[in-house]
Amino acid sequence: MSSQKGNLKKSGPPKHQNKTAFKNSMHDTSKKTKELNSMSISGCCKKCQEILEWRIKYKKYKPLTQPKKCVRCNEKTVKRAYFISCDKCIKEREECGKCGKNKEDLSLPEESSQEASRQESELHQELRNLTERQRRSFFRNEEKGNFKEEICSKSTIDH
Ligand SMILES: [Zn+2]
Ligand SMILES: [Zn+2]
Repeated sequence: MSSQKGNLKKSGPPKHQNKTAFKNSMHDTSKKTKELNSMSISGCCKKCQEILEWRIKYKKYKPLTQPKKCVRCNEKTVKRAYFISCDKCIKEREECGKCGKNKEDLSLPEESSQEASRQESELHQELRNLTERQRRSFFRNEEKGNFKEEICSKSTIDH
């Protein structure tokens, strides 16, 4: 009888503890998927919101390549895929921009959502241009205030 059971060493935690909480971008790092994931769904009822989230999750979401005609104001102002009316009309009528019916649980589109995402991408651009040292101190400052520490895990700090 040979006893080769003595080799079940489990030594400590793994070296790289990556705590980033990415979902479907884990294996798919394409820009498109990232954009979809960061997109906030608004301007529609809860039910439609769930449908859209589902589409994004299972990659069935096809963003619009050009604005669609709004069924309310008849202008080519619909920028959200699967929506039938534009942000302006959604707000005015306070109805779901996708099914055009439900008024309950409606999350109205944010005024500044485009502006915010533009600012964010500018920030990312700036970060890319920073030196390693500047970037680290940036994240260190961020850590004090919010959740960015998860992204900036140990692996980036130890040199
Ligand atoms: Zn409209
Ligand atoms: Zn709806």
